Amino acid sequence: MSTPQPMTARELFLHLHAHPELSGAEYATTALLTQQLQAAGIRVMDSGLPTGLIASLGDATAGPTVVLRADIDALPIQEHTGLDYASETDGVMHACGHDLHAAALYGAALELAEQARHARLPGRVLFVFQPAEETSHGAEAVIATGLLDGAAAIIGAHGNPDLRPGQFSMEPGPVMAGVDWFRVRLDGRGGHASEPQLCDDIVLAAAGMVTELQQVVARSVAPLSACVLSVTHMEFGDAWNVLPSTGYFEGTMRNYDDAVALGMRARLTSIVTGIAAAHGIRAAIEWVPGDTPWPATANDAALVARLTPALEQVLEHHPIPPATGGEDFAMYARVAPGAFAMLGANGSPDAPRWHNECYTVLPEALPGAVTFYRTCVQALLA
Ligand SMILES: [Zn+2]
Ligand SMILES: [Zn+2]
Repeated sequence: MSTPQPMTARELFLHLHAHPELSGAEYATTALLTQQLQAAGIRVMDSGLPTGLIASLGDATAGPTVVLRADIDALPIQEHTGLDYASETDGVMHACGHDLHAAALYGAALELAEQARHARLPGRVLFVFQPAEETSHGAEAVIATGLLDGAAAIIGAHGNPDLRPGQFSMEPGPVMAGVDWFRVRLDGRGGHASEPQLCDDIVLAAAGMVTELQQVVARSVAPLSACVLSVTHMEFGDAWNVLPSTGYFEGTMRNYDDAVALGMRARLTSIVTGIAAAHGIRAAIEWVPGDTPWPATANDAALVARLTPALEQVLEHHPIPPATGGEDFAMYARVAPGAFAMLGANGSPDAPRWHNECYTVLPEALPGAVTFYRTCVQALLA
């Protein structure tokens, strides 16, 4: 009887792209990864995670533990790339390229397992295939398993449409923004649109709030502290002749510094409550992440300095500025020093961007991404 050969990283990438699964529902992805890793002789740990997995190679008594992390979830988007390996699931697409991340980490695991068959690894590698990055819940679930405790470093990466396959950027300091999510609910006296003098106008109040919130970035934050405030969604009433009694709007704030985030929260609160008072209505502000905003992803300078020379020998270093997107990789800073790289995924000037129905990661991006993960381990366990 012959042992089944594990899939290649490229086969896995093409399969995952065609079979995407939403955040927290990555059951088939988890099952396939588990099966293929085990076929390659890599141990899948008992993490208790419903989706996602942590695999292990080497021995913690032989040296430090290095954690490699890739996310595995897809988005509720109908794919329109026209690729011959496009999503076979209606309304779900790997539009952030997490299929690249999962396949690259899998490919690195195969190569490192092969290496460990010839010479004992001087330490241990944990491969984290993280669920639910897009909903910002996956990293916390992985951390809560306790399996990463005591790790010396954690490495992550994201494909980037601005970089060509084989290029990387991993600069010290902030690389992805901190994310805050606000929801403002307004309540007042509704009534007939023809009798505004007898009602409260929460729509007019909301319009004033949305306009005035633009002064948070323009007037309240220092010009060199980069940040964004966008109101993205409003729901008020459903009839042309009724002043509604209740409604809400929501949006997001992005920044690279916790102090800036808290300052933005305070200004938003004072603008909303002040305008609500002027209109005689009630306003309730909900911060979806809770008391603290989701932090920015910031790279540990010493770790970056240690990894960069090794990476420059095998990949082209092409530094790019921080992105305003968020990443729950930021949460891992609580566990170990972290470094998060941008890896070449496409590089053509008109390449569609993340979360677009035409976002395309070139399969040629895979070897560079595999090399990135493998080289980080070799540099840190040298
Ligand atoms: Zn995304
Ligand atoms: Zn992503």
